[in-house]
Amino acid sequence: MSEIAERLQETRERLDAAALRSGRAAGDVELLAVSKTFPPSAVEEAARAGQRLFGESRVQECLDKIPALSPQLRWHFIGHLQSNKVRKVLPLCEAFHSVDSTELALDLERIAEDVGCRPQVYLQVNVAGDGRKFGFTAESVRREIGGLLELKRVEVVGLMTIPPLVAEAEDSRRHFAALRELRDLLEKDLGVPLPGLSMGMSGDYEVAVEEGSTIVRVGSFLFGGR
Ligand SMILES: *Cc1c(COP(=O)(O)O)cnc(C)c1O
Repeated sequence: MSEIAERLQETRERLDAAALRSGRAAGDVELLAVSKTFPPSAVEEAARAGQRLFGESRVQECLDKIPALSPQLRWHFIGHLQSNKVRKVLPLCEAFHSVDSTELALDLERIAEDVGCRPQVYLQVNVAGDGRKFGFTAESVRREIGGLLELKRVEVVGLMTIPPLVAEAEDSRRHFAALRELRDLLEKDLGVPLPGLSMGMSGDYEVAVEEGSTIVRVGSFLFGGR
């Protein structure tokens, strides 16, 4: 078995165990294999081991990599996206994890109408309130999400967060729990389902799943250090 295949298998086993601990079934949590900075050959190796869902965070890398790889693979964009690059990347990716402003969501809506696609969107929320440059605050997402749920093309499927860098995965638990609680509150406020919680990376995905993550974004654990 290749090293990437072994890492994938280990990650799936850990995900399944964490899903069971959170009262869900094995297989309930999606694994997004973050291939940014890694060559197409690494993606192909993961694909041979059964992985279909991949994540990229830079537009140019999407343009270079995605069209050259099998059309059976599915791609999510996970990085900060500038409005003037939406048109290039929208046809390549089915979901966007870091929609960090109303303006970007409206750009996605307008261009999705032109392109004829229906992107799934996670609203990026800065739950730690640590003064990051990008992302909604808990207050601004409560204010804005009603309007965003009205969009015709963009489908808001849930929330995403990147907690501050910490030494121990356990230190991120409260931020993951805060995102889940915010999601629960929004569902109650709005009376609509917001099933998606994109949270957890290589160092903390098990804790994230225990706190309700539905899709984890794992890069370096699968592919090696960047
Ligand atoms: C790079 C990246 C990841 C993956 O990080 P790893 O620590 O390598 O697993 C996850 N989410 C986002 C937004 C990223 O940019």
